[in-house]
Amino acid sequence: MQNNIPKNTDVVIIGAGPAGTSAATHLVKAGINVVILEKTQFPRQQVGESLIPHFWKFTDALGVSDTIKAEGFINKAGGLSIWEEKVQQILFSDFGYTRSGLHVERDVFDDLLLKHSERMGAIVFQQINVQKVDFSRPNSPAIYFSDQRNSEKKQGIINCTYVIDASGHRSLLAQQFKCRHLISPEKNFLALWGYFKNSRYAGTDYRSHSMRSIKKNRPVTFIMSYKEGWLWHIILRNKASVGLIIHPKHAKNFNKQQREIFFKQQCQSLPYLKDLLSDARFIENSISHRPDYSYYSTQLCGENYYCIGDAAAFTDPIFSHGIQNAFYNAALASCTIQASFNNPLKRQRYSQLCASRMQQYYYFSSALSLGDLNQNTHQQALVQSLMKTMPALELELMLAAANTTNRSENFKKLAIKAGIWNNFIAKSQGESLTQLTQLDF
Ligand SMILES: Cc1cc2nc3c(=O)[nH]c(=O)nc-3n(C[C@H](O)[C@H](O)[C@H](O)COP(=O)(O)OP(=O)(O)OC[C@H]3O[C@@H](n4cnc5c(N)ncnc54)[C@H](O)[C@@H]3O)c2cc1C
Repeated sequence: MQNNIPKNTDVVIIGAGPAGTSAATHLVKAGINVVILEKTQFPRQQVGESLIPHFWKFTDALGVSDTIKAEGFINKAGGLSIWEEKVQQILFSDFGYTRSGLHVERDVFDDLLLKHSERMGAIVFQQINVQKVDFSRPNSPAIYFSDQRNSEKKQGIINCTYVIDASGHRSLLAQQFKCRHLISPEKNFLALWGYFKNSRYAGTDYRSHSMRSIKKNRPVTFIMSYKEGWLWHIILRNKASVGLIIHPKHAKNFNKQQREIFFKQQCQSLPYLKDLLSDARFIENSISHRPDYSYYSTQLCGENYYCIGDAAAFTDPIFSHGIQNAFYNAALASCTIQASFNNPLKRQRYSQLCASRMQQYYYFSSALSLGDLNQNTHQQALVQSLMKTMPALELELMLAAANTTNRSENFKKLAIKAGIWNNFIAKSQGESLTQLTQLDF
C-alpha cells in the first residue's frame, strides 16, 4: 500500500462513496491513473440501504456483481406501501426481473466497492480531507488537502488533468463555485433515521415475520405515508433501518436528545411500524438526521471537472434512486473523461454533453419522486426523451412505483406526452399491483 500521495496523476476523485469508487474502476479499466482521496476511514456509515434491481447492470460493468452476491446481503423481492391508507405491493419478478433488489449495510457495501476499485488499480488514500480545488491552471487543477492520517494534519497538494467531485451531499465544488441550491422550501424535508435490533420485517405475504423466517418468507421494503410525512422500514442482516421523512416544522430547533425522543415516540406509535418493532430494541446513539436533503448544482461539469452522484444533486429517497444516479453519473463522467484524453480539443464540448445527460437523469428523478417539474419545457423534453430510450422494464417499474404514492401525476403526464403511457398503462395502473385494505402485521 502506497503511503505518499503523489504530486501528479491523471484523475483525482474526491470521495469514496459509490459514485467515486465506480468512476475510479471505470477509469482504471481504461488505463487511466486515478487517485481517490477520502475524508473518512472506511468502513464508514451511510444512509441509503435499499437497492432496486436496476443497479446490477452497473455492477456487472464494474465487474463486482459476484463479490456483491457472495457478501450475502438481504435479497428483497419488492416494495410494500401504505400510502394514504391504500395498501399496494410491487414485486420485481412481475416486471420480468430475474435478479432481486438488495438491502445493504452501506458501510459494508461501499467498502466492498472501494476495495474492488483498489484491486483494479485505483490508488486510495483515506483520512484525507480535500479543502478546495484551484483551477487557475486549466490543464492542471490543483487539489488542496489536509492529511489527517496522523495528529500533525499536514497540508498537501496534488495536480491532475481532471478532477471528479464525488464528495456526496457536501458538494465540495458546488459549494466552492457557490452554485448549490436548495429546492423550494415547501419540498425540503427533514430525514431522521435510526437502527433497531431484533425487528420483524414485512414479507411478500403481507405479514410480518421474525428474522428466523428470512429464507422462507421473502422480505420487501416497507414504506408508509402518515399525517406528518412518510417512513421507511428496511430489514438488514443484523438490524433494521427505520427513517422518518417529515416537514422540518415538526422537529424545529430540536437538539440531539429531543430528536431521539421524538423519533422513538413516533416509532412506538405509528401503526404497522410499531408492530414491526414490537420486540425490537433501539440501538443507542444510532440516530442521524439530514435537513434540506433536496438540492441541485447549476454547474455539473466543465472542461477539467465533473461533479457526480450526490455531489451534483439529490432529490428524494422515496424510490431508491440515489445509488442508481451515482452509478449512472460515474459511468457517464468516466466515459467522457476517457474520450477527452483521446481528443483533448473537444473536452469542453464533451463535458457539456455529459452535463446535459446528467441533468436529464436528475430531472427524471425529480419528476418521479416529487411529482413536479416546474413546467419547464426544456426539462420536460429531456425527461420524455429518456423515457423513450430507457429499458422498458425499468420504466414500467418506476411508473408502477410512482403509482403507489400520490406523486405520480406529473410523471404520468410526461409519459403521456412522450407517447409511451399506453404501453405501460396496465402494469403501472394495477395489473402488477396487488391492492388490499389492510395488512396482517
Ligand atoms: C434519508 C436518505 C435516504 C436514502 N435512501 C436511499 C436508498 O434507500 N437507496 C438509494 O439508492 N439511495 C438512497 N439515498 C441516497 C444515497 O444515500 C446517495 O445517493 C448515495 O450515497 C450517493 O453516493 P455518493 O457516492 O454520491 O456519495 P456518498 O455515499 O455520500 O459518498 C461521498 C464520500 O465523500 C467523502 N467526502 C466528503 N467530503 C469530502 C472531502 N472534503 N474530502 C474527501 N472526501 C470527502 C465522504 O466521506 C463520503 O465517503 C438516501 C439519501 C437520504 C438523504
